[in-house]
Parts: sequence; structure tokens; C-alpha cells
Amino acid sequence: MTTTPALRVLSLGAGVQSTTLLLLAAEGRLPGLDAAVFADTGWEPAAVYTHLDRLEREVAQPAGIPIYRVSAGNIRDDALDPAHRFASMPLFIRNPDGGDGMTRRQCTAEYKLKPIKRKVRQLLGYPHPAPVPRGLHAEQWIGISRDEIGRAKDSGIQYLRSAFPLLDLDGAADGRTGWTRTDCMRYLHSRGWKSTPKSACIGCPFHGNAQWRQLRDEHPEEWGDAVDFDRAIRAGNARGIANGKPLLGEAYLHRSRRPLDQAPIDRVTAHEWASKQTDVFDQIADAELENGDPDGCSPWACRSGQPINDPA
Ligand code: SF4
Repeated sequence: MTTTPALRVLSLGAGVQSTTLLLLAAEGRLPGLDAAVFADTGWEPAAVYTHLDRLEREVAQPAGIPIYRVSAGNIRDDALDPAHRFASMPLFIRNPDGGDGMTRRQCTAEYKLKPIKRKVRQLLGYPHPAPVPRGLHAEQWIGISRDEIGRAKDSGIQYLRSAFPLLDLDGAADGRTGWTRTDCMRYLHSRGWKSTPKSACIGCPFHGNAQWRQLRDEHPEEWGDAVDFDRAIRAGNARGIANGKPLLGEAYLHRSRRPLDQAPIDRVTAHEWASKQTDVFDQIADAELENGDPDGCSPWACRSGQPINDPA
């Protein structure tokens, strides 16, 4: 049985950490990367696609690293299509008795993990449903920084073993082994990548208030799209409604369980104000942590699943 990976693949979420890994690989500081895979839900902000295009053009192609964009469909269209089985998003529910609930999140597995696994099997030469021979595997690089080491978990898939290269790097600002998110941001900045958009669906219910505000204030078209979607899913997904099984209760994108365009997204936490006093990189990282999902929807280590201290 071989333990040497047949190939090394980066799970490219296009956020800070995975962008850092791609740049480090292109520079040769992390050798051996064969490909990068981006799982596209079809409902990412335009800035993510622009970032991805630039990464491909300026970093991946010159380094000979192919970026594969894979997809299981358009999550927004599927939710509103009565003919489509919908893998549910984590919607906030107001139950008929006034209590709160939440729908189970299936979207990450369906729209991100599934197409990535399909692509890796294909690259290994054993597309589904061919069994992958025992011992043959790809090493999958996942962008986990030291400050979120608790999210570093193996995929549990024998042909796709997780590796976390940022955790072994020297050169962190505090002299310890492993880069933090702030180290990644400094590095990206030094290479001319001054901002990295968050990769997450435009209407992801795990957005924090800061992300909703940014969408409303800087990307009004995408905000309008999310508001329309929020209105459209009030009674659940379209297929459930068409099948005579509407949601018992009402569904919302914002955790306040109010219509998105009426939700209290202008609430700014004390921590967000306090963070303005600190180093600019720490300030950005702290504000992101305070306001919810720091880096969008990471396929294998979903940061979106645990919104942090973002009271409605
Ligand atoms: S960004 Fe949100 S809605 Fe989109 S796949 Fe991830 S968890 Fe689901």
C-alpha cells in the first residue's frame, strides 16, 4: 500500500488562507501542488469571481497550476425551482408557536464537497462509481491558519487526505510555528493582494451584520438580490411548496427572523469599535470574527457553521 499521494490538490475557497496557499505554491515555498479546485455554488459575489480570475491569470497559470472550477448547480436557482430537489440552506425559522428554529445545512456538502470529490476522483483516474484502489489517494491542502486550528479535521475519505500546510510554516510575526490569519493577510498584502473577498453565497444565512451592511452599502445589486431571495423563501423552498409541503413557520436569511431589508443589520458591536484602535490587520481580522463568518464558506472546514457573537 502506498502512502505517497498520487497528487496534491488545493481546496481553493478563494478566501485569505487558501489564496495564501496558492501564492506560496506558485512561489515554490510550498512545493508539489498539482491542481486547485474551486467549488462554485453559482451565487458568489462578483468580487469572488473577479478575484478567482486574477488568481488564475497572474498566479496559477504562470506557475503551471490548473484551477478547476466545479459545480453541482446554482444554489439560488435550485431553491426557487419547484422541479428541483433542494439541499437546504441553514435558514432561520420562526415556528408557528413563535419559537425559533433552523433548517439543517445540507448545501455545503451538496454544492461544495460533492463536486470537489467528483473532480478529485476523476483526476486520480477513478471517476464515480469506479472504486478507488486502496492506498491510492490525493493530498488535499486546506487553508487553516493557526488561530483556527480547531477546524483542522481530516476529510474521513480514504482517497482524499487532508493536509494543512499553513500550520507548519515558519515566519509568523510572533515567532511561533504556523501562520495566523493576520500573517496570511500581511503576506498577501506584501505580494500586491490588498484585499481578498469572502467566498460565500450572496444570501448565506451565516453572514454577520458587517457582511450584510457591506453588501447593502457597497453592492446594492447583490443586496437587492438577497432581499428578493429572502422574500421568496418565506414559506420554504419552492419544491416543498409545490409538493404541498410548505414549511411550518416562516424562513428568513437574517438571524433576527425579520425580512432582510428590515433586519437590524446596523447594529455595531462594542468589539467592532474597540478593534479600530489596533493594528490594521488585526483590526480587520478581529472585526470579521466579531461580526460572524470570518472567511466565508470553506468547503472542508466551514467557518460559516458557527457565527460568533453577532447578536441580532
Ligand atoms: S455559503 Fe452558506 S448558503 Fe452557501 S453553501 Fe456555504 S453555508 Fe450554504
